[in-house]
Amino acid sequence: MQPTEWIQRHDIVTFRRRLGRWYRAHKRPLPWRDQTDPYRVWVSEVMLQQTTVATVAGCFDRFLKRFPTVADLAEADESEVLLAWQGLGYYRRARNLHKAAQTIVNDQGGAFPQGVEAIRALPGLGRYSANAVAALAFGTRLPILEANTIRLWTRLTAAEGDPARAPLNGQLWELAKRSLPTRGCANYNQALMDLGATVCRPRDPDCTACPVRAHCCAYQSNQVDRFPQTPARKTIESADHVCVVVRRSKQVLITQRPEIGPWAKLWEFPRCERQAGENWPAAARRVLCMVGCEPPKTLAERLTIKHTVMHYRVTLKCFEGRLQRKTRLTCERSRWVTVSDLQNYPFSTPQRKIVRSILDE
Ligand code: SF4
Repeated sequence: MQPTEWIQRHDIVTFRRRLGRWYRAHKRPLPWRDQTDPYRVWVSEVMLQQTTVATVAGCFDRFLKRFPTVADLAEADESEVLLAWQGLGYYRRARNLHKAAQTIVNDQGGAFPQGVEAIRALPGLGRYSANAVAALAFGTRLPILEANTIRLWTRLTAAEGDPARAPLNGQLWELAKRSLPTRGCANYNQALMDLGATVCRPRDPDCTACPVRAHCCAYQSNQVDRFPQTPARKTIESADHVCVVVRRSKQVLITQRPEIGPWAKLWEFPRCERQAGENWPAAARRVLCMVGCEPPKTLAERLTIKHTVMHYRVTLKCFEGRLQRKTRLTCERSRWVTVSDLQNYPFSTPQRKIVRSILDE
């Protein structure tokens, strides 16, 4: 069915009433819920891009405690923002958030923009996030279409095609817009998102507990498994990375990632990809030469971490060794830091596991 046909065939008032009743009984207690401070709503929406609610819930209060206002965020050094963003991944969002805070403070006198177009002009906000900030902070009558509501609407309408692409994506936006109530849009949008997240789940949706199953074309035609029709993901490839914890007295060597590319400007223990046919210790020695550090005589295996980045499943093997004599670093992005100082540098999630293992010694 075309999504826009659905609204002609269903009693939207009853649909909203059933959804609203369910939401009042089942809404998720989230740290950013029931708040209309645009700064808090904005931070939560940026954090929720490509990150699960559970992960954001563990980081949101910590970030807000460190940067309670947009002015605090604007004044901070970028490395402090990246440090507070640890655990959330996709660090470009943190850099955009920081830039946007500086725009708000420097160009707009610290007042958060209210119109959706002005919100969308801030770095790092697409249609979904800008609509979410405008709808949840200012009560603007706008639809919110994100992963959970896309899945929910696609099943409700049994819509054929890829919901992330035209023409279906545009039709879903139109349906979401037409379905909005005149008042109470913030709660209506949040109810749809909560229903999608907790009942109309990607796998194993709980249709018998669904308050709108009478309106669900996929359920009524016993075809829930067919929707949404998302194309198969790219194949995951594997890669081997090696990194080395080099110690000198009470210090360890760390190096900063370049300004562009994955984990831009974060810190790490010298790391590289192991080449085909290269043995692990040889790769560990090579990475140290790359940062201008003479490799220690002996390198011992410290730990192995498995993680996924983009479409790679990475095995990261970490070695360690101690320098016997001073070495002059030729890489200006590398530096010696004390072990206790490691917690003042932003690291990616896998590298943070190595930091944790060192701090726990
Ligand atoms: Fe999703 Fe099932 Fe509810 Fe349909 S009935 S909206 S598939 S949970």
